[in-house]
Amino acid sequence: MIIFTRVQELQDHLNIVQDQQKTIGFVPTMGALHEGHLALVKISKKSNDITVCSIFVNPTQFNDPGDLEKYPRTLENDSKMLESVDCDIIFAPPVSEMYSAAELELKRQKVEDKDWTGGKTVDFGQLDKVMEGTQRPGHFNGVAQVVSKLFRIVKPNRAYFGQKDFQQLAIIRSMTQQLGLPVEITGCPIVRESDGLAMSSRNVRLTATERKVAPLIAKTLFSVKEMKEKHSIAELKTFAEAQITSEPLMQLEYFEIVDAETLQPVSNYKEAKSIVACIALKLGSVRLIDNVIL
Ligand code: AMP
Repeated sequence: MIIFTRVQELQDHLNIVQDQQKTIGFVPTMGALHEGHLALVKISKKSNDITVCSIFVNPTQFNDPGDLEKYPRTLENDSKMLESVDCDIIFAPPVSEMYSAAELELKRQKVEDKDWTGGKTVDFGQLDKVMEGTQRPGHFNGVAQVVSKLFRIVKPNRAYFGQKDFQQLAIIRSMTQQLGLPVEITGCPIVRESDGLAMSSRNVRLTATERKVAPLIAKTLFSVKEMKEKHSIAELKTFAEAQITSEPLMQLEYFEIVDAETLQPVSNYKEAKSIVACIALKLGSVRLIDNVIL
């Protein structure tokens, strides 16, 4: 496994890989890795000659500076974990390698930087107007900005994203298509702890008491999935909201049942081919999201 921190050095290496007609699979992450991330690397390894995993805590997708500061950074342990699954390349650049001072200044002034589109018009329509989009202004613009930069640097044949971030996956599919980037996007299943809690880098910030009640999130989603045969969507929403608000440590941000393609809320099961229940809440000071396809 080779670790690169400089764009030019990574590209010099990948140019040789591409000249040899080898395929590149890419797993973008923000580090603090867990089994969920490793699952993406394993899936990539099955379909590609070389797998690149990036570790970069992207400042432009954080709307809360405190959250950015507190985000766990564990490069040494991450490297060991990636080595254990035979990842070929880690790309762990410093912020200065990914962003110019001017780009960071725009972020500091909370101005949405649209320069990443390379002059093209990228419009996410309603995809970024719901759920995470309303709770975290500017978040998806920052995600699209960094992923488009990473795609241009790594030039992967395929890229792998978790369905844990269901809305992010939809945004990245849309961005890739609108920019005409030749990357195949694959969504991968959510990896959970044995008690159902979706794995997340943020879970380590939960206190012991918070960690004990955290499985209620997945338990509620799984109950909703079971209940769908006999209950209306309105009833599922009432049930889920009551479950979460009954736990004093949890503050619900949203629970939505949406069309899996358009992410627009649905009011009956016939409105969409595939439906997904999405939740976001704060458990103590930690913001958690999860979802289940109904
Ligand atoms: P992050 O480091 O949180 O930005 O996540 C990097 C990638 O890992 C994203 O595509 C996430 O959706 C994915 N991911 C995070 N947690 C999980 C999980 N529990 N199961 C599957 N994929 C995940």
